[in-house]
Amino acid sequence: MGLAERLAVAPVVKPQMCAVGRLLERLPESEAVALQEAIDKVRGVDPTVRKGRSEGYTAVWLTNVLKDEGIVVSRHTVTRHVARECSCGS
Ligand SMILES: [Zn+2]
Repeated sequence: MGLAERLAVAPVVKPQMCAVGRLLERLPESEAVALQEAIDKVRGVDPTVRKGRSEGYTAVWLTNVLKDEGIVVSRHTVTRHVARECSCGS
């Protein structure tokens, strides 16, 4: 790239994704799809009918499944991603 071209382009900072977002990018596609579906399931649970932290599709459940598979993400990070409060903006 020549100097004139380089000077014409301002640097663009990619939005920083949270650990869950980066994981979704990094996993093989079939696993990423399954993870996204799981996130959607957690999102789909009505908090008013939620029976507890250990029953049904919860961020705790998702965090534990990931941990069992050797993927360590904090429950806080999972909760924020599920709630769309993370830096992914999704
Ligand atoms: Zn995120």
